[in-house]
Formats: sequence, C-alpha cells, structure tokens
Amino acid sequence: MGDKPTILIWSEHPALARELVGAARQALGPGGDVALLAPTGVAVDIRSVDVVFTTESADESPEAWAALLAAAVSQTEPALVLVGATKLGLQVAPRLAERIGAGYAAWATGFTLEAGTGAVAARCSLYSGGALAYHQFKPGRVVLTAAPGALTAPADAPSPERIARQSTLTAEVDGIAPTVIGVRPKATSAARLEEAHAVIDIGQGVKAEEDLALIESVAALLDGQLACTRPLSSDRDWFPEWLGLSGKKVAPELSLLIGVSGAIQHIVGVRDSRVIAAVNNDENAAIFAQADVGVVADLYAFLPVLVERIKARGMRPAWQ
Ligand SMILES: Cc1cc2nc3c(=O)[nH]c(=O)nc-3n(C[C@H](O)[C@H](O)[C@H](O)COP(=O)(O)OP(=O)(O)OC[C@H]3O[C@@H](n4cnc5c(N)ncnc54)[C@H](O)[C@@H]3O)c2cc1C
Repeated sequence: MGDKPTILIWSEHPALARELVGAARQALGPGGDVALLAPTGVAVDIRSVDVVFTTESADESPEAWAALLAAAVSQTEPALVLVGATKLGLQVAPRLAERIGAGYAAWATGFTLEAGTGAVAARCSLYSGGALAYHQFKPGRVVLTAAPGALTAPADAPSPERIARQSTLTAEVDGIAPTVIGVRPKATSAARLEEAHAVIDIGQGVKAEEDLALIESVAALLDGQLACTRPLSSDRDWFPEWLGLSGKKVAPELSLLIGVSGAIQHIVGVRDSRVIAAVNNDENAAIFAQADVGVVADLYAFLPVLVERIKARGMRPAWQ
C-alpha cells in the first residue's frame, strides 16, 4: 500500500457498484483513492472514482473476472477489494482472494480501514443472518463481499475536481478453469410467480422434499404458486429462486407463509401482498408481527385439516 490507501470495487451490477463506492469513500475519508473495475459495457462517470479499469474481454466467467481484478490489484495495491455479493460476485471473490493470497470474508455489513497501517476490520453476517462474525485482518490484502443495502453509506456524489485515471485491462485466465460442456436456460418460475394471485411461500419449517406434495395440495386448492425462503433454494436446492431482499418480490392477493420465521430479509419480498397469512408452530415467531392472519400450529397437523375442510366445503378462491 502506498501513502494513500486504495479500495478497489467490483460488481457486475452498476447500482451495487455505486453503493460500494459510497461505502469505500466513507471508510477512506478524503485521503484515499477508490478504484473501480467497470462492469462490461457500462460507462462510468470519471468524476465518481479515482481510477477506472475497463476491459474489452467478452469472458464473463468468475475466473475471468478474478483474473481482471488480480491485474487491477497489482496496479493499485489496494488495502481492500470490495466485491458485490451477487451469485457471480460470490464466485469471483474467493477465487480472487486465493489468486492474490488475500484474507477473505463474505457478507460484510460494515468495515473499517485503519489510516496508516491500512488494516481492515469487518463485521460479517453468518448463517443467513443468524449470527455476526467480527474479523480483524492483518495489514495486507483483503477481499470482502457485501450484498445490496448491507453497507449503509451515503451515495458518493461525483466531484467536479475528480478525473479518474483510466486504464484498460486484459487478463489471462490461468490455473484451474472449468470446461463448459453445455448451457441450459435456468428453470425459473419468475413470470408465473409474479402473475400469481396466491403465493404459497415455504420456509425451513418444511422438513423434507417429500413434504412438498402436501404443500402442492394446498397450492392447487388456492390456485397458487410455490415460492420459498432463501435457505430452501440456496442450501437445499429445492427451488431455483427465493423471495426477499436478495431474491424475487411478489405482490399477490394472498401470500400464505408456511414454516417461515419472518426474517426481514425475506419479508421485503412479500410485504406488498394484499393479505399475508402465516402458519408457524412458534407463537413468538417474527412472522406473526407481519401477518394479517396467523395460525400457531404444526404445519403437518394443520395443512391436512385445511385441505380437507376446503375440499369438504367446495371452497374456491375468488380469483379462480
Ligand atoms: C444479507 C442477507 C440477505 C438475505 N436475503 C434473503 C432473502 O432474500 N430471502 C430470504 O428468504 N432470506 C434471506 N436471508 C436469510 C434470512 O435472514 C433468514 O435466515 C431466512 O429467511 C430464514 O428462512 P426460514 O424462515 O425458512 O428459516 P428459519 O428462520 O429457520 O425459520 C423456520 C420457521 O419454521 C418454523 N417451524 C419449524 N417447524 C415447524 C412446523 N412443524 N410447523 C410450523 N412451523 C414450523 C419455526 O418456528 C421457524 O419460525 C438473507 C440474509 C442475509 C444476511
């Protein structure tokens, strides 16, 4: 690190990159430089950062971005590389850290950079937000990822006095690069989910994949589409996508949340529903503060009875 500490930023999403630039500027104060590797095809306001790297590479693989960032690191020697915690960013950041021999932590919700030594300390979310980890890195290279909205910093206004140094990067992908043997479009329920009148939104209270048959029987009666919380998609891989802060947002007539705790990161995905109903066996679950209708019950006892009653009474949703 030179006299002036540098933070290097990258995200493929321009809005997230701007957020990270704001957080970097706040951490650096007036005495440091912010360098940005621009997303492909995005024009960066040269008054917004101190160094802009661009690339003409068409390779959008995690390995290629990690190689480009490593090239940017060797030019700027940043105290910190801040990467957007998107699906792609979460693949790029650890590859970069390994490549440049940096300390690494994911899901930062705050960080500081000590003036003088350039030592980085970071607070990071663990276990999908269930715990916090505090990292104190030795001075040297550090890579962090941060999700949209996780680092609350004022947006950095472009400065008329600032004109970023610009440089074009090319990078060789070396080491172990995966071989792409085929590309298939991702299975997605997004279009149908967004059009659905009812969303049957399940969480970790649903224990086994076989239990989806029970949930589907409820969805069929309500003419609803299935959706889930993040752990059911990212950890258990039951669905291609989830609802919430880092997932999809829906606004149906009815969202029925089953075995969902009601974490705010999830609720932002369903809070525009006309009616939120929830089934949870914990009467203190946070979801009950958000729901219009709440049932404290074991879902495995309650749902079969619900299905039976709806069938017995020949009830149909208003939208069917
Ligand atoms: C930066 C960040 C972004 C995030 N973004 C998202 C996001 O976009 N979307 C998202 O969903 N999460 C997101 N998360 C994770 C989020 O914080 C929660 O951890 C997650 O939503 C919890 O999922 P859950 O409700 O399925 O599981 P849990 O929190 O484990 O809740 C399960 C619930 O099921 C109930 N239950 C258990 N057994 C039964 C039963 N038999 N009958 C009835 N109820 C039962 C329990 O009482 C509990 O309330 C994010 C976290 C972070 C840190």
